[in-house]
Amino acid sequence: MTSSPPPESLDPQDWEALRQLAHRAIDDGFDYLQHVRDRPVWQPVPESVVARLRGPAPREPEGAEHAYAEFRELVMPYPMGNIHPRFWSWFMGNGTAFGAVADFLAAVMNPNMGGGNHVANHVEAQVLDWSKEMVGFPADASGLLVSGGSVANFVGLAVARNARGGVDVRELGVAAIPRPLVTYASVEVHSCVQKAIESLGLGARSLRKVPVNADYEIDVRALEHMITEDRAAGRQPFCVIGNAATINTGATDDLDALATVCEREGLWFHVDGAIGSLLALAPQHRHLVRGIERADSVTLDFHKWLHVPFEAACVLVRDRKAHRDAFALIPEYLEKTERGLASGAHWFSEYGLQLSRGFRALKVWLTVKEHGLERFGRLIDRNIAQAQELAALVDAEPTLELVAPVRTNIVCFRFNPGGRDDASLNELNQELLIRLHESGIAAPSYTTLGEVYCLRAAITNFRTTSDDLALLVRAVVDIGRTLVS
Ligand SMILES: *Cc1c(COP(=O)(O)O)cnc(C)c1O
Repeated sequence: MTSSPPPESLDPQDWEALRQLAHRAIDDGFDYLQHVRDRPVWQPVPESVVARLRGPAPREPEGAEHAYAEFRELVMPYPMGNIHPRFWSWFMGNGTAFGAVADFLAAVMNPNMGGGNHVANHVEAQVLDWSKEMVGFPADASGLLVSGGSVANFVGLAVARNARGGVDVRELGVAAIPRPLVTYASVEVHSCVQKAIESLGLGARSLRKVPVNADYEIDVRALEHMITEDRAAGRQPFCVIGNAATINTGATDDLDALATVCEREGLWFHVDGAIGSLLALAPQHRHLVRGIERADSVTLDFHKWLHVPFEAACVLVRDRKAHRDAFALIPEYLEKTERGLASGAHWFSEYGLQLSRGFRALKVWLTVKEHGLERFGRLIDRNIAQAQELAALVDAEPTLELVAPVRTNIVCFRFNPGGRDDASLNELNQELLIRLHESGIAAPSYTTLGEVYCLRAAITNFRTTSDDLALLVRAVVDIGRTLVS
């Protein structure tokens, strides 16, 4: 079958020219990654660049060459920094070279992962099967790839609400739930959990924040006490959220103990394992997440410790029927057929909010195949060892102090030359951190523990070396000294 292309199309007019451009883009991208260490971690975007990013959309074609030249000039030089070996802010993966290629290939095939009978859905199903294996979930559990831990937590909690609400929440709404539903999580729980609870119509107040012990782990006794109190007051406890590594300090709750409480009390057990689910891969630290396999639903983030390019995460739900019951809605235009394109076993749109969905499974699938799970486990162990190494360097510096125990890969510390109160130290360390970022040397982030503002290095970085940690400590001490002199 030959026919001439339509007179106007989005295909290249000159395939060879675009192919050349694409090859150049790959070369530029690989050079960028290979030499990332030689550049500053971060630098501010110049005003002139920001101004040029405010123009209107072009009305007529500018062409791929021109668009690419602008990308090279305006965008590429000012990265966030999280691909750099000395980036330890918040909690982010680095991405990988092959992961970037995988994103390209996913876009080339460009399937819609809402449903249908095509191979990409089997790839997602396999990634879900691997995820179940990672955390010790049964093979018949269900799951869904989503954009990130926030959405994964939302999906898990939506299923929990509908399964335990006691009424048909989809039909009648939350107002029909006879007694107010109460959720429990430690004070260290991630903010996205509160956003999920709010969006589910339960109200932020219904999320009980349970105190933590000196290691920032949930106080199980206090939790049990709160459950009893709420029951006595006529409220309906329905869900406990365990932290598999908290965002502030990396502490992991006693998941086994929480599972036992939930079993006894008949509560849904959700684990926010955006960080810590993958600890199950790490030979020296998998004991920290013992009990995760007893959860009803679990969140995993692939764009954190698996270093898959953003966005990629997953929610697992033990009870497949409960998961599907929370989201499936099948109008006539989505009805399945026995054979053909509209058949198939995997209709992921029935397990979440999205109908059209991208092929994010491919970059996870290719990344796991490229490196194997055990390598990721070793790299997680190495990051945790590096946190201990950094803690030791901090301890050895008279002007630096740790402000929280180092449980996994997160080190909270501050510059403290002595003779100042917390308020003054907080101000000093805030300015110190900004200067450190502006220096381009290193990029830890920050948090506040109690009244203490501190620098916070979350080492989720396969490019970091011991020298990088020493450089950080040197820079913090130097900037701190300059500030006080
Ligand atoms: C990062 C994180 C989240 C949110 O995940 P996103 O992928 O950023 O949406 C939730 N919980 C914890 C503990 C996290 O570290």
